[in-house]
Amino acid sequence: MIEKVNQSSDKEPVIRLKDVNKWYGEFHVLKNINLEVEQGEKIVICGPSGSGKSTMIRCINHLEEHQRGDIVVAGTELKDDLKNIELVRREVGMCFQHFNLFPHLSVLENCTLAQMWVKKKSQQEAEALAMKYLERVRIAEQAHKFPGQLSGGQQQRVAIARSLCMEPQIMLFDEPTSALDPEMVREVLDVMVELAEDGMTMLCVTHEMGFAREVADRVIFMDAGEIIEQNAPEAFFSNPQFDRTQNFLQQII
Ligand code: ADP
Ligand code: MG
Repeated sequence: MIEKVNQSSDKEPVIRLKDVNKWYGEFHVLKNINLEVEQGEKIVICGPSGSGKSTMIRCINHLEEHQRGDIVVAGTELKDDLKNIELVRREVGMCFQHFNLFPHLSVLENCTLAQMWVKKKSQQEAEALAMKYLERVRIAEQAHKFPGQLSGGQQQRVAIARSLCMEPQIMLFDEPTSALDPEMVREVLDVMVELAEDGMTMLCVTHEMGFAREVADRVIFMDAGEIIEQNAPEAFFSNPQFDRTQNFLQQII
């Protein structure tokens, strides 16, 4: 069951994880995760492969269930029984490494489907909003193509526009540029930077440390299911506190 525990306000963190633990079978994948994210904050999450970054992100919109601790998103507490999961999902948009667009639908249809089914908008209304966000990610001229006719960078921008069409309070990104050819990374990061500048609350799993320096309020380093350290980008990069963080940064920078 999801309970409305409080109204979102400027003071209340828009995301709060308290002593969150998760297991896959015997495997303890998230260990006492504590994290508070203020409205408008931009967080970059990094760490070695397998450290639990995706799992943590996916718990926030309940693509994964946690077993212990509390997760509150936009004033709604995530509990085991999820009758009202849409309440949270409406507030949280997500972009994945592999875009996950519907291949048999046009770009425009990808952007209108959920608006019409979940938000019950008319086709006309949904298309107008879709075009607004497709313009925002500079891909409106491709609206009638199918995803397979676009480059990876273009597809990822469509995926971002599709999420924005639901007008979420929070955007989660899970390695949005790591499947892209290098020449397409910048066009996606540019869109993410603009979104950040517009004030979106963002959690981004990424190893694009230039992006982290440019937009993050905080960089979080995870290893083996734990948040090892977190700091403002400048301090994080210039003065990492733990050997594990230093080793990781040496490998990726
Ligand atoms: P990251 O995103 O940091 O690479 P993940 O959150 O994807 O890490 O995975 C953390 C650990 O959990 C890894 O060891 C991974 O193999 C394991 N894992 C992820 N998903 C599952 C699953 N559905 N079932 C069992 N183990 C999983
Ligand atoms: Mg991952």
